[in-house]
Amino acid sequence: MDELAGGIRRVTLPLPTRPGHVHSYLLPGDEGWTVVDTGLGLPDARERWARELEGLPGHVRRIVVTHFHPDHVGAARDLSELTGAPVLQGRLDYAQCELVWGETDWGPVLVDWFRRHGVPEGMVTELIEQGSLYRPFIRYQPDPELIDPGDAIDGWRAVAAPGHADGQLMLLRDGVLVAADHVLDPISPTVGLWPRSRPDPLGDYVGALRAVVELGPTFALPGHGEPIADPVRRARQLIAHHDERLQATAAMLHDEPQSGYDVSFPLFGDDLKPAARRFAVAETLSHLERLVLAAGARRHETAERVTYTAR
Ligand SMILES: [Zn+2]
Repeated sequence: MDELAGGIRRVTLPLPTRPGHVHSYLLPGDEGWTVVDTGLGLPDARERWARELEGLPGHVRRIVVTHFHPDHVGAARDLSELTGAPVLQGRLDYAQCELVWGETDWGPVLVDWFRRHGVPEGMVTELIEQGSLYRPFIRYQPDPELIDPGDAIDGWRAVAAPGHADGQLMLLRDGVLVAADHVLDPISPTVGLWPRSRPDPLGDYVGALRAVVELGPTFALPGHGEPIADPVRRARQLIAHHDERLQATAAMLHDEPQSGYDVSFPLFGDDLKPAARRFAVAETLSHLERLVLAAGARRHETAERVTYTAR
């Protein structure tokens, strides 16, 4: 456990894939500690957390999950059982968490979706297998306390950060932003279009980056990587990055219809492993859909296939 400014503590937990780690933050407060994010629900998650919390002065009052991705929500139930503290999760985010990791078999939905976006038959299965890699390590908390943007949590304010995940929430207090996966440095958070996600994740993302510029935090604690000394500058860089990416995507389009899978090659390169291709296709689609809305591309949809052309 590391001690940061303002009495905030940081726990860094391992991930078997890149970026290799995820951070949880422990925020001190009048009511006890607020733990933000939980890491994967690996078989030793509970023991690991017990070791991390040993010697922590005071008790864990609550656990906040910023978004439903495996590395953030995975050990929520373990940590809640260990500490007796309730889990708080965004209303929209929890709905998606249940949809993707709950009872419904999400596999066929993804298979159908990747097929429609042009992924070749042989590769679809591979992409799905890669996607279910983390499934055994997701132990989310059913019936959490649902929270919304604007809610106050022991002096912190929940701030909407859609894009990387539709219902992602950050926490802000006195210029310190617990940024989840919204503002990362030097990596750029993935912003993908997924089945049943909101229709314009890139538009949401850039809007939420502009909101960070407006809010003007002086310091950010991201889900991955080191603290960010100038989050406003970083938010501006990310806006510029996506602007360039959007122009590059537009330049790939012509009169011949292309799928999201097709366009992901010139954008992200030819030799990606299936796990990375998955995100490349989803991210390409978020850019293509932004272009459609900005009248820079046309979408053509049949029951079997979705393609795009230049406008
Ligand atoms: Zn993450």
